[in-house]
Amino acid sequence: MIRPIIAGNWKMNKTIAEAVGFAEGLKAALKTPPAREVIVAPPFTALQAVAQAFRGSAVRLAAQNLHEAPKGAFTGEISAGMLQEAGCTHVIIGHSERRTLFGETDDRINRKLRAALDASLTPIFCIGELLQEREAGETEAVIERQLKGGLNNFTSGDIGHLVVAYEPVWAIGTGKTASPGQAQEVHRFIRRWTADRYGKETSAELAILYGGSVTPKNIAELLQQPDINGALVGGASLDIDSFVQMIGC
Ligand code: PEP
Repeated sequence: MIRPIIAGNWKMNKTIAEAVGFAEGLKAALKTPPAREVIVAPPFTALQAVAQAFRGSAVRLAAQNLHEAPKGAFTGEISAGMLQEAGCTHVIIGHSERRTLFGETDDRINRKLRAALDASLTPIFCIGELLQEREAGETEAVIERQLKGGLNNFTSGDIGHLVVAYEPVWAIGTGKTASPGQAQEVHRFIRRWTADRYGKETSAELAILYGGSVTPKNIAELLQQPDINGALVGGASLDIDSFVQMIGC
């Protein structure tokens, strides 16, 4: 049985002071350990301060990206080891904004996933199709290509240490959510694909999150789908009341 995960991706939002204020508020709101795993992904600048604020709570910390090299001449980049030192347990990799705005390819994402695992960080591996790909009936082909490329040379042991997030690009930040049925269809495809490659047991234990305009209003129905094990939430995770509602729904 997979423990549902609610992860908040803050993107390039919140100052350090705002992030710490949110973390303290969240810690106070979750007096008893929540039934769901809760993860928050602040911007890099706030990671260490938020890690300190969450100390003693069950909330986990994620970064939003990493560089695949352990160190070196990569101006402006951050390694997996640095993230771990700052208090991260997770890292989002392959988010559609990284793919479309920063040119990340499946091959690059594969190297980033490997770097995260090597540093004992749990990657939240994001995949999802564009609107024109869905409309052209290519959703499964796109998802398969992203899975194949991102997970190239991975073993079932590796798969046991990562989380997949299905995020249809047309639903991110647009207010258009995939219907629970549309989301479940793709999640089932991911479950079957991973079962064929890595075995039924590994696939059954793989947490597959849905992301794309998830809010307190639509989360319950999405989480009722058999292959949806949680949510990766952008906009609605920035407001503490809505985030707490989604954790408890
Ligand atoms: C995201 O950025 O991962 C996301 C799902 O954003 P939103 O919830 O705002 O659509």
